Amino acid sequence: MRGGFGGMGPAGVGRVWTPGGDGPQAGLKDVPVRRILVLFNPYRLLLLAVLALVLAGTGLDLAPPLIMRTIIDRALPHGDRSLLLKEIALMVALPTLSGLLGVLRNHLNVKAGQAIMRDLRQGLFRNLQRQSMAFFTHARAGEIIQRLTNDVFAIQDVVTQTVVSAVTQTVTVVATVAVIFALDWRLAILSLIFLPLFVLPVRAVARLRRNLRRETQRAQGEMAVHLGEVFGVSGAMLTKIFGREALQESRFTALNRKVMDLEVRGNLIGRWFMMMAGLLAPLGSALIYWYGGFGVLQGRMTIGDVVAFAAYLGRLYGPVSGLLNLGVTFGTALGVFQRIFEYQDLVPDVEEAPDAVAMPAAQGHIAVKGVAFSYRPDIYALKDVGFQVRPGEMVALVGPSGAGKTTLIGLLTRLYDPVAGSIEIDGYDLRHVTQASLRANVAVVTQDPFLFHASVWENLLFARPEASQEEVEQACRKAHIHDQIAALPDGYATLAGERGYRFSGGERQRLAIARAILRDPRILILDEATSHLDTQSEAYVQAALEHLMKGRTTIVIAHRLSTVLAADRIIVLDGGRLVEEGTHLELLDRDGLYAHLYRTQFARVTAARE
Ligand code: ADP
Repeated sequence: MRGGFGGMGPAGVGRVWTPGGDGPQAGLKDVPVRRILVLFNPYRLLLLAVLALVLAGTGLDLAPPLIMRTIIDRALPHGDRSLLLKEIALMVALPTLSGLLGVLRNHLNVKAGQAIMRDLRQGLFRNLQRQSMAFFTHARAGEIIQRLTNDVFAIQDVVTQTVVSAVTQTVTVVATVAVIFALDWRLAILSLIFLPLFVLPVRAVARLRRNLRRETQRAQGEMAVHLGEVFGVSGAMLTKIFGREALQESRFTALNRKVMDLEVRGNLIGRWFMMMAGLLAPLGSALIYWYGGFGVLQGRMTIGDVVAFAAYLGRLYGPVSGLLNLGVTFGTALGVFQRIFEYQDLVPDVEEAPDAVAMPAAQGHIAVKGVAFSYRPDIYALKDVGFQVRPGEMVALVGPSGAGKTTLIGLLTRLYDPVAGSIEIDGYDLRHVTQASLRANVAVVTQDPFLFHASVWENLLFARPEASQEEVEQACRKAHIHDQIAALPDGYATLAGERGYRFSGGERQRLAIARAILRDPRILILDEATSHLDTQSEAYVQAALEHLMKGRTTIVIAHRLSTVLAADRIIVLDGGRLVEEGTHLELLDRDGLYAHLYRTQFARVTAARE
């Protein structure tokens, strides 16, 4: 298959796509946070309910240390059994209630979060489908899928968890601090002064781990790419042919070792981190029992105060370090959001005009008027090309490789717009008709037709979903492919495509012709396959094509002698310009480029086959 309609978009049209950087580290200022909030907007009621549940849950969770205090300071010293039992009942009831609210909160939160994720994916999908072919040929393989799946997945935690846990943590911290100040403000100040000392290292470690994680992921990615190259069919063959197994293995060894080293380092940091975190709680308690213990001895505090205090302080570590880490988490997520928004903002370089009209069923008159096109500034792939095709006429496009034939076809089907001149069908400028009506009138059969991983049946219906079984089979008969399909074990239900039944090149072309017959357009654009088919296959394809072209306006990039001979007119392109135009005999008479091509290309190919 040739390069196809690749390109960065026509020159003169603003660059519409910039590949995203791979370091998702953006500052708040780079990303419109408002835009992120807008995503949450449709679900604000749900989210308000979540917030209410967060507040209720946090309130309930504040109670246990106070209950302990009551038990120690009042129930036990006074031998108050009923108070003891009451407090114990509360000790069970409140966390149970809090747990139940938590389940509900989580449910609502996940529901809102996932709805937001769905909206994001849907919006991205819709905008990507609007893009012109230039975008798809320019995007790196896998990048689009990566953004729609991995990137959207990467912000899932932020959308569904982080926002809510940030709120929860803030509420917890504020409420806990208020309570400990109420208990004993001096002890509160003392413990709060030391708190940062405990949580700051946690933050540093978290950042280290995150960086290491990213490096590890990159190394794993490199390894995956390497494996894909080495064990892909073409790569494996290249390696074998050149006997380079040892080289490939030594490359792999290096990558493999890197992954191991990074994983080990990441784990070590993790251990240190756990150890330090494990030390914090006892140290904090010691501080409180030291100060509080003396307070009790001096009669300034009660035992219950000290116990409750220690319990509260223990609850602060988690939320405070969580809040400190929030910056890093959000920073990463913002980078990903930015990449997603970039895709959302892509403007297709071929767009439906706001006042586009539906083109009626065409007569099939094509006028190409002074058309120019360039993929890159100042290098014209087509320049000043003009010709007309009458309804029902069959025109062959010929020219050396790189002459601009594929580009011209791309313009005729409006995969691109010309940078100068215009193309009209029945007097309608392609830029001013709806794309749907254009596609209904023009069908394309490419060199190497694509089959989806679906049944043959579904692959055919793609051209016209409402076609009846009778119509589909009829089209296949006309395309000389019905018998082959019927002979398959599952007939039309046979799975085709990547992991399904492998149709040969000639069969795929005939399936594509059947699709075009089903579509029944007035105008047909053909890119004849350059690949050599065996004579039998060739004859079938030829017969199918003849059927298809009957009564339609046809423009075909011709590679076969039979096609140029059958054409009403031949248009010769060279270096992006129309250089000759006429019938086979006229052009042979002229003894120009066509005559040369005829002698070197068409006649020879035919001779080779006979
Ligand atoms: P043909 O089909 O006649 O072989 P093409 O239409 O494919 O010729 O190419 C015409 C010219 O445009 C060639 O010079 C080619 O290099 C250039 N071209 C084609 N596709 C692209 C692309 N995606 N980006 C940049 N230049 C391109």
